[in-house]
Amino acid sequence: MDMARIIDGKALAAGIREKVARRVALLKAEHGVTPGLAVMQVGDDPASRVYTRNKAKQTVEAEMASFKFDLAAETTQKDLLRKISELNEDSRVNGILVQLPLPDRIEEHAVINAIDPAKDVDGFHTINTGLLATGQDALVPCTPLGCLMMLRDALGDLGGQKALVLGRSNIVGKPMAMLLIKENCTVTVAHSRTRDLAAEVRQADVLVAAAGRPRMVKGDWIKPGATVIDVGINRVPIGEDEKTRLVGDVDFDEAVTVAGAITPVPGGVGPMTIACLLHNTVAACCRQSGIDLPED
Ligand code: NAD
Repeated sequence: MDMARIIDGKALAAGIREKVARRVALLKAEHGVTPGLAVMQVGDDPASRVYTRNKAKQTVEAEMASFKFDLAAETTQKDLLRKISELNEDSRVNGILVQLPLPDRIEEHAVINAIDPAKDVDGFHTINTGLLATGQDALVPCTPLGCLMMLRDALGDLGGQKALVLGRSNIVGKPMAMLLIKENCTVTVAHSRTRDLAAEVRQADVLVAAAGRPRMVKGDWIKPGATVIDVGINRVPIGEDEKTRLVGDVDFDEAVTVAGAITPVPGGVGPMTIACLLHNTVAACCRQSGIDLPED
């Protein structure tokens, strides 16, 4: 039985982080500029804590300036908007990220759209989503950007591929579809109301699964030889005791015997997201400082 090539997200992410670190060193040495990233969390959701801590840690490891704000769960929308406005004005801060989800009483769009679009390194501001949708230069959401980098690594030119994006969220599914259209794929977006999902998946040369449903995509849904990017991060119990493990939206053990290439969970898309955040922060810094760094 032919087994799929495993796309190594850890190794690819390490490569991106090294490139980021080289660019940061160049910005410091030749331009006297240190890129800075501000990460804000409201409340103490444990998963968000892990994410914001890792983002800050990797920012420091890339020798960028890290500004971390852990705001109390009771923080009002007005206070949050005031803090964002301060960071918009702060020239040491090139990127601003507000960790989602926010508490229910805070309006997510109002907060995201308060960020200066030039500092919106998560790429969620309506200006950046509009730029992406119209094929213009934009700050692109980190997870779909990481998926695209993995696809380019696995396949090279994506032109003409039939791609299925499973999920239509603003964070993953929709921007992923926009990126794949830009890459000249023929794109289908499937979601919770899609009729006969298995039949849709069977057509796809490229599958990006972002539904948040553990092992939903079965091996016999996958077109033989297809490239599978599994964005899902789902914690499931193993055995009788309290132990859990992370699985994706794709049944990996089945899919690995059918696909041409596949990302594992963990160690696939996950590590790429933060690497892309650092990449976006350096890009935002260059643009804000009017510096045109050569690609290395
Ligand atoms: P979401 O809940 O906002 O969106 C899920 C999408 O999947 C929806 O559009 C919904 O229509 C679709 N969907 C749900 N159930 C379905 C079903 N049974 N059939 C078909 N479609 C279905 O989730 P999200 O924020 O887009 O995240 C998706 C997954 O990706 C989650 O597991 C999340 O943890 C993971 N994620 C990972 C990263 C990362 O690796 N860094 C980043 C973001 C999200």
